[in-house]
Amino acid sequence: MDKTFSIIKPDATKRNLTGAINKIIEDNGLRIIAQKRIKLTKEKAEGFYSIHSDKSFFGELIEYMTSEPVIVQVLEGVNAVESYRNIMGATNPENANIGTIRKEFALNIQENSVHGSDSKENADIEIKYFFNNDEIVG
Ligand code: ATP
Ligand code: MG
Repeated sequence: MDKTFSIIKPDATKRNLTGAINKIIEDNGLRIIAQKRIKLTKEKAEGFYSIHSDKSFFGELIEYMTSEPVIVQVLEGVNAVESYRNIMGATNPENANIGTIRKEFALNIQENSVHGSDSKENADIEIKYFFNNDEIVG
């Protein structure tokens, strides 16, 4: 078993899709072992997406990620990182497979409803960026 980090993004919390998204996550065998609803500050969002700071869409991405509350979560399961990336679907919902969260709910390439870590190393970094050890309860 390992862990990954997940965000339910502003477009989804705004449309009351938290439960629907978490149902897909749980139905696919992942367990939510930490969870909180927060409003990202500009600084926190910029730090989280710092790898994209030189991209043309960075400013818009930060505005979007701070526009509404988000749900940050730790997920546990077998091959959690890869498994959750598969459940999420492609970044651009037009390319996402049927049955994935992004195919079902994402509005466009930016407002794509969910984030998931892209490697075990980044999962560890991202989990620590949002959670203390005593907030993660398997
Ligand atoms: P995430 O990191 O949020 O899980 P991802 O790994 O599928 O998504 P990244 O390339 O890391 O995709 O992009 C991070 C986020 O930036 C995307 O999820 C999306 O919200 C936004 N984004 C990516 N590409 C674009 C783009 N071309 N135009 C606008 N927004 C974009
Ligand atoms: Mg990414």
